[in-house]
Amino acid sequence: MAYQTINPFTNEVVKTYANATPEEIENALALGDERYHAWRQEPIADRAQILHRIAALMRDHKDQLAKIATIDMGKLFTESQGEVELCAMIADYYADHGADLLAPTPITTQATGDAEIEKQATGIVMAVEPWNFPYYQIMRVFAPNFMVGNPMILKHASNTPGSAAAFEQLVNEANAPRGTFKNLFLSYDQIGDIIADPRVQGVALTGSKRGGQAVAKAAGENLKKNSMELGGSDAFIVLADADIDEAVNLAWRVRLYNAGQVCTSSKRFIVADSLYDQFVAALKEKFQAMVPGDPMDDQTTLAPMNSKRAKEKLQDQVDRSIAGGATVAYGNEPIDLPGQFFQPTILTDIQPDNPLFYEEMFGPVAQVYRVADDQAAIDLANNSELGLGGIVFSGDPVHGKQVAQQIETGMVFVNTFLSSLPELPFGGVKGSGYGREMSSLGLMAFVNEKLVVTAQKPDYQNGAGGLVIL
Ligand code: NAP
Repeated sequence: MAYQTINPFTNEVVKTYANATPEEIENALALGDERYHAWRQEPIADRAQILHRIAALMRDHKDQLAKIATIDMGKLFTESQGEVELCAMIADYYADHGADLLAPTPITTQATGDAEIEKQATGIVMAVEPWNFPYYQIMRVFAPNFMVGNPMILKHASNTPGSAAAFEQLVNEANAPRGTFKNLFLSYDQIGDIIADPRVQGVALTGSKRGGQAVAKAAGENLKKNSMELGGSDAFIVLADADIDEAVNLAWRVRLYNAGQVCTSSKRFIVADSLYDQFVAALKEKFQAMVPGDPMDDQTTLAPMNSKRAKEKLQDQVDRSIAGGATVAYGNEPIDLPGQFFQPTILTDIQPDNPLFYEEMFGPVAQVYRVADDQAAIDLANNSELGLGGIVFSGDPVHGKQVAQQIETGMVFVNTFLSSLPELPFGGVKGSGYGREMSSLGLMAFVNEKLVVTAQKPDYQNGAGGLVIL
């Protein structure tokens, strides 16, 4: 596959990159393994300093990094700037809290001796990442594993090689020791070979079901621990007691941010019968007001999608949903610009037998459903093969929380947008994958939680005293 930056606003091929050679792969594995062993002897405080330096460099180079991401995959420049800042926050968070979170946990036990769980590194982590947040997706794996002492090899999406190369350059500029992080432009087969290598002990993928299944299979065959951050078709539930203006004010933003290409974008709006007509009318007004254009221009509010392929896939989904009975309440008209623009679109009347009912629509398309009551809203939200995030909107936060607790997903936010912050765990259930990134949970993803029991003097009696010798 070709690693290429094709600017989705101009369709210009900006740069093509050569695939990794076998020598580059072996070098990355050898240096990563050397680094893993070296870090086992080095204080974690040294790594904290480097991670703070990476955060500072990201802030210093914010505009330059943001422009690279925008040219790679088309998101609004201001959104790219926000993404770079979030990466710096994640790096600072793990630099500040990594040592405490990784401190041994003592256990009260009947065993002879003091027992504790130590949190030790395991080896190189192979990360396979998508294009939609080209820096943040890397940082979510890099920062915690760097503190743990696990080096990282990255295979980024084939359409965001510029961002991958820029991230690597930044890590080098921060004087991270060699072997810390290596970006490789890998084929799918080469990913499998790396996963099979004994020097690799963790595998993290963020992406689609298709990518997840292939990489999880390779990890499973080689008995490598793995985490899967996959797609979502998140519900945004508007309960009957919600303030409709506030709900719509949030709804259009969460659907259209990053041109709708966010795993946790609300994709299914499930609205109480009494508010449904108002909701659709107000959402339509917000969608109509979007201004497509150059994502580098601060007057633009609608960015192009990341690629021609993504736009064509979304159009095919919309066409199939209409053929299956959906009504176009707004949109689905071509935008007269050369870039990969997709007009924000509202679909209604989607029944469970519609071929799109269980598919994730990864672009600026909102599905709106009408429900009779809370239980119907919960049932519809849970009638999904995916379970990533969700939002519940209610005039009463207690009521909203009661509904949120019944949604089968990894994350639910009440009366606010779903935000990703370093201290909050991120991940899903069902077809949205398994494992968590970020927070203390993400830090432990590829840690050896190792039991160490230390007796002050040899004790041969316990086997007879009710404890079994194993
Ligand atoms: P994708 O095709 O699965 O790509 C993601 C990564 O996997 C890319 O690096 C891709 O490489 C690689 N890949 C794809 N197929 C592979 C295979 N058979 N073997 C090895 N590697 C493979 O995903 P996408 O469609 O571009 O990304 C959007 C999806 O990611 C959406 O479903 C979205 O919801 C999900 N996502 C989830 C999260 C989360 O945290 N849960 C966050 C962001 C996005 P190539 O680019 O070279 O194909």
